[in-house]
Amino acid sequence: PVPVLTIDGPSGSGKGTISRQVAEHLGWRLLDSGALYRAVGYAAGAAGLDLSDAEAVTRCAQATKIRFQPSADGSDTRILVNGHDATDELRTETAGAAASAIASIVPVRQALVELQLGFRKAPGLVADGRDMGTVIFPDAPFKVFLTASAAERAKRRYKQLKEKGLNVTLASLQREIEARDHRDASRAVAPLRPAPEAVLVDTTGMSIDQSQQAIAKLKPG
Ligand code: C5P
Repeated sequence: PVPVLTIDGPSGSGKGTISRQVAEHLGWRLLDSGALYRAVGYAAGAAGLDLSDAEAVTRCAQATKIRFQPSADGSDTRILVNGHDATDELRTETAGAAASAIASIVPVRQALVELQLGFRKAPGLVADGRDMGTVIFPDAPFKVFLTASAAERAKRRYKQLKEKGLNVTLASLQREIEARDHRDASRAVAPLRPAPEAVLVDTTGMSIDQSQQAIAKLKPG
């Protein structure tokens, strides 16, 4: 089978950046599964749906067309939701909260399974998310769970959002992150937790390079 490296963990643990760099380094594909939940939350919001209306949001998840497309200059990936470039909107904390809300609906998660499995193509896949090692790719030979303290994760998000010119406060960001973590960890379906065989890497106080080196040392489990 095509090898998969799963990288799960809470938001701000460094998952996104590290997954991208590791995928580039290995020449493997990348699955940003969080973007799928963000895209569904965004599409549901754009359609004026009540995010707690499980049936309506499920139909929306089934109908939403999500495409990852390299930007014209090849420097990043644009995310098209029903043909609209929603990359910037999807990065906001509002989109993260909407994603987290719809991610607790079981049939919404089911609607995204096939799409995610389809990313597993030679020579390999780096899969970034919450349940990559536990639910979607349980047979993955490499599993990592990245963590970092909530304070550190809030600081990282704050820096990212400031660089994008978004107006947020560190305290409100940390509160939002903690609320989202709590919801993701306590939900009944696919709660955020490490696969038993995952290697735990705490990136608090580590640079991206140091985190990447910690992962590069891993052996198949
Ligand atoms: O990783 P990201 O912050 O983009 O994920 C947004 C939200 O999507 C998470 O808070 C989580 O609720 C949900 N998610 C999920 N399963 C995944 C990836 C993301 O439930 N595999």
